[in-house]
Amino acid sequence: MDIFDVAIIGAGVVGCATARRLALAGKRVLVLEKAGDILSGASKANSAILHTGFDAPPGSLELDCVQAGYAEYLAIRESMNLPLLQTGAMVVAWTEEEEARLAELESQAHANGISDACRIGRRAVADREPQLSDAARAALIVPGEHVIDPWSPFLAYARQAINGGSHFVFDAEVTSGLFDGKTWTLTTAKGAFSANGVVNCAGLYGDVVEQRLLGSSSFSIRPRKGQFAVFDKAASRLLTTIILPVPNERTKGVVLCRTAFGNVLIGPTAEEQLDRDNASVDEATLSQLIARARVMLPALGNVPITAVYAGLRPATEEKHYRIRHEPDLNWLSIGGIRSTGMTASLGLAQHAVRLLLGGDGPLSDLTAAPAEPVPNLAEHRTRDWQLAGYGEIVCHCEMVTRREIEAAFAGPLPPGDPGGLKRRTRCTMGRCQGFNCLGRLTELTGSRLAHPFPGERL
Ligand SMILES: Cc1cc2nc3c(=O)[nH]c(=O)nc-3n(C[C@H](O)[C@H](O)[C@H](O)COP(=O)(O)OP(=O)(O)OC[C@H]3O[C@@H](n4cnc5c(N)ncnc54)[C@H](O)[C@@H]3O)c2cc1C
Repeated sequence: MDIFDVAIIGAGVVGCATARRLALAGKRVLVLEKAGDILSGASKANSAILHTGFDAPPGSLELDCVQAGYAEYLAIRESMNLPLLQTGAMVVAWTEEEEARLAELESQAHANGISDACRIGRRAVADREPQLSDAARAALIVPGEHVIDPWSPFLAYARQAINGGSHFVFDAEVTSGLFDGKTWTLTTAKGAFSANGVVNCAGLYGDVVEQRLLGSSSFSIRPRKGQFAVFDKAASRLLTTIILPVPNERTKGVVLCRTAFGNVLIGPTAEEQLDRDNASVDEATLSQLIARARVMLPALGNVPITAVYAGLRPATEEKHYRIRHEPDLNWLSIGGIRSTGMTASLGLAQHAVRLLLGGDGPLSDLTAAPAEPVPNLAEHRTRDWQLAGYGEIVCHCEMVTRREIEAAFAGPLPPGDPGGLKRRTRCTMGRCQGFNCLGRLTELTGSRLAHPFPGERL
């Protein structure tokens, strides 16, 4: 049996970024994912904010990884054609008590190296965001917080890992494993695989994977649901800056911000639940969220809702990231990456490689794994439909072209299911939620999706 250097369990944001970094370090990497595509777990639904770490716990691993991830994203994004919607953020105080907390937050931001964070008063808030309710009393501006496309970076990292010799296997849930002192043999739904080391990036199942393979787990996942409502595209003209609440100990709170896809979203809530898979939404919570958005930004009162969704954070019984390194077992768990993981992923990947391969200096790339530009999905940049020769518009709400659908299947790592196709093209994400284009998408995808659109035969 082929023996890989490292097997990564889970192809969420952490698994994809870690695969890329290990591949760049010259390792042969195998990624085992139980779903039909990358980003099928916690990573499929988030707020897409590239965080600076201004409010992260000072001196924490989370702060280090967020800041390293942020810096690396900016350094590599152009070579991969990845967007940055430069918005900045304002932590807005709506009450006297919240206003009193801004000074403390400003000091924390400065202590965390975010020296351009500064407080502004009521008038400056109104000048910056004229549509915001005049109940906004003051704010802390954090100019470096931005919005990105939550999906394309990880497709780009996975493809770069593949260019460096990595393999991704889908529908391959790891059910057990045996370490013989040198090599791990992992049993999956797709057969057995061998690797010298294992990195557990199983997100909402990180503790279950430890239990299955090590016999005990060092943390326990407490899923924390976040519901969102997405306003129609007209809303994106009403707001520039990310509007953050004053955070509390448990959560960063509900955000109002533009998306890279040209909408405005409100969310996420923070609801504890036992179920690790069910990210359902409920009408009462969504109504409250939407009402809150309309209080903050009254002009949203006339803007309809395009979509609602929810994501599950892989939170644990403790707030900090849960890293378990067992050098004698060639094992590393990167667990409990709850609410900053999209930003921190590249930093976590650097941390993982230093733990596994030793050294604490700058990492050098040992393999020629070329970065490939991915198609642009961001609304503020040129979309495919604006260029000649696209053939046909397939999804009219999101202006997705047939050429984009074909490109998704042509590249390394084609989509494995409808969600994967959506995350590569934006199809079905718009006002009609696929009602009008599902038939055409079904025809075009044929039997190319391992998990087809509902109703399509394999
Ligand atoms: C509501 C919400 C808002 C957020 N907002 C932001 C934000 O604005 N900015 C930011 O930086 N971060 C944000 N995050 C955080 C970020 O999305 C998460 O930290 C991140 O997605 C966690 O990724 P992961 O790779 O650890 O887990 P996952 O994405 O869950 O990946 C784990 C993968 O492992 C697979 N798996 C599980 N068990 C097995 C097994 N036995 N065998 C094989 N595969 C297995 C799963 O199918 C899954 O694909 C947010 C998260 C949520 C939920």
